[in-house]
Amino acid sequence: MHAAELRLGLRLKASFGEEGGDSPAWCGMIRGGMEQRVVVVGGGPAGSVLAALLAREGVRVTLFEKERFPRHHVGESLQPATIELLEHYLGLGSALASQGFARKYGAVYVWGESREPWTVLFDERLERDLERLDEAQLLAGGYDHAWQVLRERFDEVLLREAERRGVDVREGVEVDAPVVEDGRVVGVRLSTGAVERADFVVDASGQRCLLGRAFSLTSVVPDMRATACYAYVDGAGGVPGALGRHVQLVVTIPEGWVWFIPVSAARTSVGVVVRERAKLTRQRFDELLAHAELPLGGGEFATRDDGSVLHHAKDWSFSHQRVVGPGWMLVGDAACFVDPILSGGVDFAVRGACNGALALLTSMRDESAGAAALERYAQRLIQEYRAYLRLARYWYGNNRSVSGLFWEAHEQIPADSVSTPMRAFVYLTSGQYAVDAHYRIFHEAQEQKIFRALGVNRKALKRAKDRRGASRD
Ligand SMILES: Cc1cc2nc3c(=O)[nH]c(=O)nc-3n(C[C@H](O)[C@H](O)[C@H](O)COP(=O)(O)OP(=O)(O)OC[C@H]3O[C@@H](n4cnc5c(N)ncnc54)[C@H](O)[C@@H]3O)c2cc1C
Repeated sequence: MHAAELRLGLRLKASFGEEGGDSPAWCGMIRGGMEQRVVVVGGGPAGSVLAALLAREGVRVTLFEKERFPRHHVGESLQPATIELLEHYLGLGSALASQGFARKYGAVYVWGESREPWTVLFDERLERDLERLDEAQLLAGGYDHAWQVLRERFDEVLLREAERRGVDVREGVEVDAPVVEDGRVVGVRLSTGAVERADFVVDASGQRCLLGRAFSLTSVVPDMRATACYAYVDGAGGVPGALGRHVQLVVTIPEGWVWFIPVSAARTSVGVVVRERAKLTRQRFDELLAHAELPLGGGEFATRDDGSVLHHAKDWSFSHQRVVGPGWMLVGDAACFVDPILSGGVDFAVRGACNGALALLTSMRDESAGAAALERYAQRLIQEYRAYLRLARYWYGNNRSVSGLFWEAHEQIPADSVSTPMRAFVYLTSGQYAVDAHYRIFHEAQEQKIFRALGVNRKALKRAKDRRGASRD
């Protein structure tokens, strides 16, 4: 049997059935009688996915996005688990596959003391097969992969899907502040001065952290502050062999690290992350890139509309003391952000949106169960954030030994679900481990609904579950 088929996620999914794009994700958990109004701030991956999931269940959602799409964004290297969720809940697999994005079968790292490249592959079979494949065979081989995307296109697919599902999307409208009455968020004030009232406000404003800042909840991780500077190259090459341009390349340099992410057949995103606090000049950017010896070939830097080449992004890890409160929830970067070394931001945002939507739907259906569901959402988010931060710190602190990194990953997940420390690393960093946990929560929510419908007493249900847990041990 194909090793991937053994993954816990697939087993769990099989246990509650494939959802597909148009069937209700939570089987009508709240369908009918739903008069709740939700405002979502921000139309990035977190906001669009959460809004789409609520709308498909009949909730009235208004989404405010300050830009007009398509708009540029950093964060192009995705994880397979993200694509799996987007297909599972919104049926977006083929829409994403038709965008001309580059495939990502894994990552090649030149990291730490040894300058020998090491390769991490999503599909375990490729550890054996890659040597004997050419590019065409790799592409035709049905191996697990993610995408490396132009975010303006990727984010637009998600925003338009939210619109198609019935979300009232208002682009070019900036939200200024939450409106608070008697300690509860009851809406938002727009930059025009108008007020939009809602039963619940979801902050998906990315690093703007609208609510977190308004409530002074943001805490920055002091040892994880960096600056990123990046540009686009047309006509660059790829790594040697079949992987070529179908993989992300990461190289350490004394000042930090460099990314090389092909996002289409012709275009490559090239970036430098340094601990310096200032924006890099073009000259310094070129000098740092030269240390990394990237496969730039005869590629040419693309110019922006204003004639410049470089983009800059602040790259600080942070979280919030609380991510849910009366009438509000934080999701995606607006909740927390960890250094992009493991390319997990979009995955975190999309999964957080799925978990957040599930918690919100539960709270709309049943207020008492809802409080616990929102609390679970918060706990899971913070748990994932901490695990991710720990791995990123370990990555930076222990860059002498690659195998040490794999063992660190192995310690964070159940030993029986993977075959080697390297597979533990892939399972953890590809988002699969967390997505499996998401399916588990989803499965429990389904179970609870069924038991409620059957009139089963909650205490009896808990006792049955405890017995089941004990019998597994
Ligand atoms: C240097 C760097 C490299 C990265 N590389 C990767 C990578 O390779 N892979 C990866 O997965 N992630 C990466 N990330 C992280 C990734 O960019 C984010 O995690 C991801 O975009 C989060 O999605 P989001 O929906 O939460 O926020 P965003 O995508 O930032 O969306 C937020 C939206 O809210 C809108 N908005 C903000 N304020 C307001 C307002 N007041 N009113 C209305 N709208 C508002 C914004 O215009 C924006 O469209 C990287 C991040 C950095 C800094």
